[in-house]
Amino acid sequence: MSDETSTTRLEAVRARIRAAEDEAGRAPGSVALVAVSKTFDAAEVVPVLEAGQRVFGENRVQESQGKWPALRERYEGVELHLIGPLQSNKAADAVALFDVIETVDREKIARELAKEMAAQGRAVRLYVQVNVGEELQKAGIPPREAVAFVARCRDEHGLAIEGLMAIPPADQAPGPYFALLEKLGREAGVERLSMGMSGDFERAVPFGATSVRVGSAIFGTRD
Ligand SMILES: *Cc1c(COP(=O)(O)O)cnc(C)c1O
Repeated sequence: MSDETSTTRLEAVRARIRAAEDEAGRAPGSVALVAVSKTFDAAEVVPVLEAGQRVFGENRVQESQGKWPALRERYEGVELHLIGPLQSNKAADAVALFDVIETVDREKIARELAKEMAAQGRAVRLYVQVNVGEELQKAGIPPREAVAFVARCRDEHGLAIEGLMAIPPADQAPGPYFALLEKLGREAGVERLSMGMSGDFERAVPFGATSVRVGSAIFGTRD
């Protein structure tokens, strides 16, 4: 894995985001890049940190615990997003390590996170994951329950939900799913939308994505 290629690819992704913002008539910088470093070890993440990237996404709590504390000591301003499913027995570790948890999708997790944030005195920013394609194998709250769930997080658990996150079905055009998340975000009254990955991040921009989660287009193919 050459250092040169990941930084070159990072620059290319940044340029494509800027171009998509421009084309959609959105302000420059309105779409944040979450660099998804899952499965890549610290040595492979360093060049991307050196190139100035500070927002990263990981999908496993344990993998992140082995990688990020040392990197955080070396690089200031790192913002770490959990983008993978969260088990309630990992809620304490997740609250201790992550700045943003994008995968709140059920009552039990909301309750655990509220409890842990209070116990640790730490405010983690939260997104609700919506299973926009209602796929059996995917995590996320069903679309028809999403707005009420966001309200319950606020009213019953005291959790401020900042945004919605979704992964559209892999084998279909993502536009209608991005549009659905945008509509649900408006109805739920949240400010942010995390949608778009390596294969479709430009298409999420006109639908109001405020962050895109890009892994392989930066780091290369995962094993
Ligand atoms: C792995 C992953 C990504 C990044 O996927 P790429 O196709 O490599 O860009 C984005 N979001 C989630 C939730 C992921 O698990």
